[in-house]
Amino acid sequence: MLNLSLPPFEDLQAGIYLVPTPIGNLDDITLRALRTLASVDRIAAEDTRSAKILLGHFGLHKPLTSLHRDNEAQRSQDILAACKRGERFAYISEAGMPGISDPGYVLVRDAIQENVPVIALPGPSAALTALVASGLPSDRFLFLGFLPHAASKRRQALAFFVYQPLSLILYVSPHRVFEELQDLQEILGDRKATLAREISKFHEEYMRGTLSSIHQDLAQRTHKLGEMVLIIHGADDERAAQAHAILHTQLNPPTPNQDTQTPLTPLDPETAMQLDAQRLLELDAPLSQLAKQLAQRWPHITRKQAYDILQNLRADD
Ligand code: SAM
Repeated sequence: MLNLSLPPFEDLQAGIYLVPTPIGNLDDITLRALRTLASVDRIAAEDTRSAKILLGHFGLHKPLTSLHRDNEAQRSQDILAACKRGERFAYISEAGMPGISDPGYVLVRDAIQENVPVIALPGPSAALTALVASGLPSDRFLFLGFLPHAASKRRQALAFFVYQPLSLILYVSPHRVFEELQDLQEILGDRKATLAREISKFHEEYMRGTLSSIHQDLAQRTHKLGEMVLIIHGADDERAAQAHAILHTQLNPPTPNQDTQTPLTPLDPETAMQLDAQRLLELDAPLSQLAKQLAQRWPHITRKQAYDILQNLRADD
């Protein structure tokens, strides 16, 4: 047990305090997090058993209430009712920032609706920690959380991001990492990527390379992979610029003497798929082969539909 003897806050107002907790090393908790946990009346936790161990480590003992995915709606109402009577509640998820691929959103949404103050403390989260150490552009990014488990839904979800230029952040489960890496390579192409494993823990590791090199390297591992975040480079400049230019033309048909700077607008998947089909047609291959590739990359269309799309585009040329 660590005894820091930190003074509690004297004048903490009633409300919800979102308190991030360590994702690995227990020393990653902030002083403000500890003082807040020491000052609130009660703590709601995603997992009360692991919360008890964490709090015990810091010599904190508080009444605990569970709030997890299955009881979030009802339990949030109970907590908000208590806050309206003047209580101060902290919420901690199992690890990291509450509300980031963890419960917390419903509690915050309902609190705001009912005019209960929400105070979020800054602190550990696996997504941003992995991004900043990845070596990939960190100025603009998209956080995708976990991809859908079902292969068809996952591939469909990925199709939205083929042409967007921002770095992607994904949470990856060791049970699905190989099939996800395979889908990512097929749909996004073999891009630069970094896999961050066991951040802030004894076996912390950053695997920097491409989606395929990370895939090959992981396949040779015999030990447990642990917790992982995958950072993927955005679409290359050429792909992104082409997509933006086409979308810009669609949204703003050119008028004479107009400045033609393209805005940074997300591309809708239908336009992106058509663009992809046009690029495929530049390859010197039979239409049936191209249709197979197109349908693989855009799972919302069948191979027959892909064939028809390619045939129509070729006829238009
Ligand atoms: N709320 C957490 C946060 O702020 O990062 C995320 C919770 S989510 C249920 C758990 C996932 O986050 C893991 O499956 C893994 O993808 C990622 N993660 C959490 N801790 C990690 C760590 N120490 N190293 C790498 N990834 C981690």
